[in-house]
Amino acid sequence: MKTKVPGENDFLNDICSLPGGEDIRLCIQCGTCSASCPNASKMEFAPRELIAMARAGLRKEVLTSNSMWLCASCYLCTVRCPRGIKPTNLMHALESLAARDGLSSPRSLTPSMYRSFSDFVYSIGSVPEVGFMTWFYFLTNPLRAVKMLPLVYKLLTHGRLTIKARRMKPEAEQQLKAILDRAETLGGV
Ligand code: SF4
Ligand code: SF4
Repeated sequence: MKTKVPGENDFLNDICSLPGGEDIRLCIQCGTCSASCPNASKMEFAPRELIAMARAGLRKEVLTSNSMWLCASCYLCTVRCPRGIKPTNLMHALESLAARDGLSSPRSLTPSMYRSFSDFVYSIGSVPEVGFMTWFYFLTNPLRAVKMLPLVYKLLTHGRLTIKARRMKPEAEQQLKAILDRAETLGGV
C-alpha cells in the first residue's frame, strides 16, 4: 500500500503522470503563456493562473473551470514558454482528468461535443453532420435543435449537408476502434 507523504499533492502527481503534464513543476510563473493566449480573457483562469492553482492542489477549482475547454490548441503558449513547458498539452491533460473525475465545467459545451464526436466515430467510424449535431443538441440543449431546423433545411436543400453517413471500410473501422480503445487504456475517456 502506498504511504501518503505529509503535504504530498495528489493532484499534481496525477497531472504529472499524464502525457503533457510532466513539466508543470518547471513553471516559473512568468505569465508569457497567459499574455500569448487568444482565449485567456474568456477563461475563468488564464493558463499561468491555472498552473499555479494546480500546483497548489486545487483539484476541484481547476477541474470544474472552463479554462482548458476553451484552449484552441493554437500552440502560441507552447512556442513561447521560456521553460520549454507545453501548456497546450497540459490543457488537454487537464481535460482528460476532468472527464475522468466527472468534473467537467457546466459552463462549457466542449466536453459534450467531444463525447458526441467520439460516440459517432466509435460506433460508425465517421461523423455525419446532421446526426452528429442532433446527438450533440440532445446531450446539451434539445430545444436548440428545434431552433436550428430552418437552417438545417436550407443547408440540406443547397446540398451543403447530407443525412447519409459515409461508412468506413470494415477493416479501417476495426483499426480506428483499436486506436480509440488504446487511447482509453492510456487514460482517455
Ligand atoms: S510561459 Fe511557461 S514558465 Fe511562463 S507561466 Fe506559462 S508555463 Fe509557466
Ligand atoms: S494553445 Fe491553448 S492555452 Fe495555449 S495560447 Fe493557445 S489557446 Fe491559449
